[in-house]
Order: sequence, then structure tokens, then C-alpha cells
Amino acid sequence: MSKTSPSAPDLHVDSLLAHGGGGFDLATGAVVPPIQTATTFVRDESYELRNPGHLYSRDDNDLFVKTEGLIAALEGGAESRLFASGMAAIAAIARTVRPGGTLLAQSGIYWGTTLFLRKLCARSNVALVETEASELEIFLEEISVTKPDLVWLEVPSNPFLKVADIRSIAARCKEMGAVLCVDATAATPLILKPLNLGADLVMHSATKALNGHSDLLGGVVTTADADSEAWAFVREERKLAGAVLGSFETWLLLRGLRTLSLRVERMNDNARKLAAFLDGHPKVETVLYPGLASHPQHELAKSMMTGGFGSLLSAQINGGKGEALKVAGALDLFQRATSLGGTESLVEHRFTIEGEGSGIPENLLRISVGIEHIDDLIADLDQALSVI
Ligand code: PLP
Repeated sequence: MSKTSPSAPDLHVDSLLAHGGGGFDLATGAVVPPIQTATTFVRDESYELRNPGHLYSRDDNDLFVKTEGLIAALEGGAESRLFASGMAAIAAIARTVRPGGTLLAQSGIYWGTTLFLRKLCARSNVALVETEASELEIFLEEISVTKPDLVWLEVPSNPFLKVADIRSIAARCKEMGAVLCVDATAATPLILKPLNLGADLVMHSATKALNGHSDLLGGVVTTADADSEAWAFVREERKLAGAVLGSFETWLLLRGLRTLSLRVERMNDNARKLAAFLDGHPKVETVLYPGLASHPQHELAKSMMTGGFGSLLSAQINGGKGEALKVAGALDLFQRATSLGGTESLVEHRFTIEGEGSGIPENLLRISVGIEHIDDLIADLDQALSVI
């Protein structure tokens, strides 16, 4: 490659990812970028910045710019901004709703998001409406009636794996002047591109599959329109509220992204096979996974997703809390830990985390499928299910 940077329009995203966004360091010829640890950048004798792009690292640094450019290309978006965690990204977007405004959020989504939105809205005089989004007509009606400033979806939802119709919801949001943001963490941008379906913003917890190695916290927001009012606010929030990703974490994220397409391919393939195995298992009551033909939104998921259905699934075990915990406790290869999107498969009893009143069934185990050999994953679940 003679150019310092491969040009995005000519290449498949897998190729862009494999090169970490492309290019080599002009000064050294290194094929991976250096970690810029400086927080501040010098001015010359006439007080001009030596490099006009660099003043202070809360505003910008080369690694942010490179990583954000790569993610914006993956999403088919105009611009991205990295944040210190998924929650920091969510907070910046949620704060676009001013006091007196309304936020309509899908119910039954990631518990941390629900909790944060409830607390933020209560103390900021924002009306929060929580509604099931897979019941399309009801949700559309809610948009028309409540006239929200911001609509929050999570596709697929965690841990129920429900799938909302982004196209129809985006069209109603446009009609009513609402901003639509989709948390597509559980899908990854390789499988679901909400901006192409009409959403204004898409966000990911980069802690999950984007990085993929369970060794950093990060978040990212991408906009369809770099000139929108919502985007101006999010950009300003990142800079002024200061929830920036550290340089080392940004470097790790860019390294993780190099293998995203391979990891997603394997994780999706494993998840599909594991869901099929669990679906026919006599000790399993229900499997929640949009890739199963029996999933209520399977056709919708097929119409929005490409190359798979994500690597998150939930299984309701025959019996109650005791049986679910027994199965989780008997697993050898799966780690009993929260989170998702890493190379290692994880199992979690969400009821233990969220508790009474959360609506989480006591017999539900959430499974994040990793890149192990599928035979080992199936064998481990099979032996664990045999203890009940
Ligand atoms: N969105 C979803 C769907 C998640 O599952 C999580 C965390 O589990 C988050 C957002 C929050 O991300 P973070 O833990 O990086 O703050």
C-alpha cells in the first residue's frame, strides 16, 4: 500500500477494520499508531499552536479522531464521539432533553440505562414515559400523544432480546420532531446500522463487542447529521463535561476493532447454534433470541439485520431461581460474570442483579456467546443442564 491511508469508499468495512482505520505513522512508518499520552500541546513564539488540531487532550487527540472516523464509517454516519463509558455516552444524549421536555424510552432495556433515565428525569423536571417498543402500534401512538423530545430504543434489548421496528419508529419521530437514538450495543454496527434505517443517533457501549476483550470501559455515539442541534449538544457535552476516553483505552479499542469482523462472525455463528441447541432442550422452557424462527420479531429482525442476530441470548430454565442458579453454578467453561461481547462466553442471572420489581423472570439466564469452539460451549451447557 503506497498511500498512508486506505480510502473508505473503495473498501469493505472488514478491510478498514483490519487496518485499524488505515494508514501508518508518517514520522516513523509504524503500522500501528502510538499512544499519545500528552495532555497539552505547545504554542510557538508568536503564540500559534504548533499543530492547530492539538491544544488540550480533552478536546481532541489523534487516536480519538482515528477511532471515531473508523466507527462513523462502520455506522454509515457523519461523525462519532468517544466517551469514557457507555453510560457516559447515554448521559450526554439524555441530557439533550431540556427541563420541561419529555423522554420516551423503551421499557425492559438494560437496567443501568433505565435506572439512570429515571433518576436524571426526576431531578431535571423531564417527563419520562416508559413503553414496550415491540408492540409497534402502541409505541407509535405513544410518540404521537406524548410528543417526546427524545425517543430511546435498544435493539435488540438486553436481556429480553426484543426487536423494535426502527424504520417505522424513525418515520413517526421525524413526523413529530423527536430525536431517535438507538442503543445497538448487543448487535454491533456490522449487523445493525440504525442510521440507515432512519435513526438520528446510534450509541454503543464500546466496553462490549467493539473492543471485545473485556479490558476497557468505553462508549461511542454516532450521528447521521453533523449539523443537527442534538449533535452540537453531544459534542459540547463530551468536550465540556469531560467524560473522555483515556488515550490507552482508545488505543486498546482501536486494536480490538481490528478483529471485530472475525469475532462478530464467530460469535454470531456460535450464538445461532447455541440458541438452536437450547431451543430443543427438555430442561429449557424458552429461548429468547431473534435468530430463532419462533421469535415473535424474527421477520422484522431479518429485515433490519445483516450477517447474524447478535451474540446475546437468554434462556428460561425449567423451574425457578434455584434451578437457574444451579445450572449457572455447574458451568465450567462459561464464566459467571456480567457484561457481554467479549471473546469469552459469560452467563448471568439478571434477577440477582435487578431484583424484585424489575420484571426479570427468576429462571432467566442471560448468555453472552464468545468465540470458543461451539462443541465445547454446547457440551458445557449440556452437562450443566443435567444437574437439574
Ligand atoms: N447499553 C447496553 C445495552 C449495555 O448492556 C450496557 C452495559 O452492560 C450499557 C449500555 C452501558 O455501558 P457501560 O457499561 O460501558 O457503561
